[in-house]
Amino acid sequence: MGVAAAKALEKAAEIKALQGRGRRGQVEKNSKIFISGAGVAGLTAALWLAKAGFRPTVVERAPSVRADGFLISLSHDAYHSAEALGLMPALQERRIGITRSSYHDPSGRCLLALDYEDLFRGLDILQLTRDDLEAVLFEAAREVADIRCGLRAVEMAQRSDGVDVTFSDGRSEAFDAVIGADGLHSGVRELSFPPEKIRRHRLGLCVAAARLPNFIGLAQKFETHMETNRYLALFTTREGGLGGVFVWASEEETVPPPESRAAKLQEAFRGTSDFVKSIVDHCPKNGGIYMDSLSQIEMPSWHEGRVAVVGDAAHCLTLFSGRGAAAAFNGATQLVKALIDLPPEAAFQRYEAAIRPVISKIQPATRSAARWYVPRSRHRECFRNNAMRFLPNAVFQAYFRGKYSKA
Ligand SMILES: Cc1cc2nc3c(=O)[nH]c(=O)nc-3n(C[C@H](O)[C@H](O)[C@H](O)COP(=O)(O)OP(=O)(O)OC[C@H]3O[C@@H](n4cnc5c(N)ncnc54)[C@H](O)[C@@H]3O)c2cc1C
Repeated sequence: MGVAAAKALEKAAEIKALQGRGRRGQVEKNSKIFISGAGVAGLTAALWLAKAGFRPTVVERAPSVRADGFLISLSHDAYHSAEALGLMPALQERRIGITRSSYHDPSGRCLLALDYEDLFRGLDILQLTRDDLEAVLFEAAREVADIRCGLRAVEMAQRSDGVDVTFSDGRSEAFDAVIGADGLHSGVRELSFPPEKIRRHRLGLCVAAARLPNFIGLAQKFETHMETNRYLALFTTREGGLGGVFVWASEEETVPPPESRAAKLQEAFRGTSDFVKSIVDHCPKNGGIYMDSLSQIEMPSWHEGRVAVVGDAAHCLTLFSGRGAAAAFNGATQLVKALIDLPPEAAFQRYEAAIRPVISKIQPATRSAARWYVPRSRHRECFRNNAMRFLPNAVFQAYFRGKYSKA
């Protein structure tokens, strides 16, 4: 039996045990769970709760499940959890099929090329776009959870034995515990945690993501173009289109309205190479561009009474970690496993003890990665470019393999 199959069996046994405990042990205490946010973390939490016999309430602010289509990777623990949830066939169908990547300087010269077959050999890893991952999670969760879109929590009052939640439609409901899985701009975090316990570590960068026609004929490839203060990653979508992720140095925190984002992107990439300019010129003009500033969230504790935050709401690793989606998946899995076993506060402590050591390492490493990918001076850019050109390929292979073979 292969390692992956053995792990899947182990997970299946764990699920059975969880189901048993869910029906007997804590079911009275934690049976009514409210999840804010139907993203990766929220839907994963809902699926694990449903496996254990609960029917959670999931509230999503957007009118439907969001569809930002950038590339994400599920590897290691997140991959095995997805397997144990029975999602792998549907996820595999949507795998993006990228086979290689390359990194380029402003003149278009290739600094580093990696072959994904070599790079990921023997690793459990799946690359797909976030909208595809969310669609698979949503499809599985909508039968087993009460999912309400176009709604958000506006007030939360904790009692000793529960939380009273008031929603944006004016209705109130009592829950045993609340999971804040509502991303970087989490509403649950703002409503439940003292402001002095929330630190937003700004990276001084803004990000945009868009889909555009594949006018450059990029095939099954991830291609990065880097210059001082600016970065562009391009990838081929499953349908053969083009996805673009743009990052630029900026201290701005206000995100322009959708109709102004194409102009903002033009302004941010003024004076770039002809190639990058042509990509920017092909971005949609009538909305359809995701845009935000890049921040990590730092909190001394991820739980307050009967409320816990998970995924980006708790720590937001940002795209330069390459592991934000996997961390959201893992965090939700650990949180729910604990919640089925224990009363909320003890469960939240166990979840945090399991996840925090990993996140504490990834957050600073990601800040270094951001400085590497988006150098702030010509001097640093030259140093980085020379390292990428002249260090042996094996150094970079070892870096990426190390990253994707850990929890
Ligand atoms: C451009 C870009 C590229 C990225 N690239 C990668 C990558 O290559 N690899 C990787 O692993 N990760 C990547 N990430 C990060 C990854 O997408 C996130 O870490 C991951 O989606 C976090 O999942 P989450 O469920 O915690 O939060 P989200 O996915 O942000 O989901 C939160 C959900 O909550 C909803 N919501 C927000 N506020 C409320 C509210 N008040 N009430 C109810 N619902 C609410 C939102 O609409 C959303 O559906 C990237 C992110 C960006 C922006």
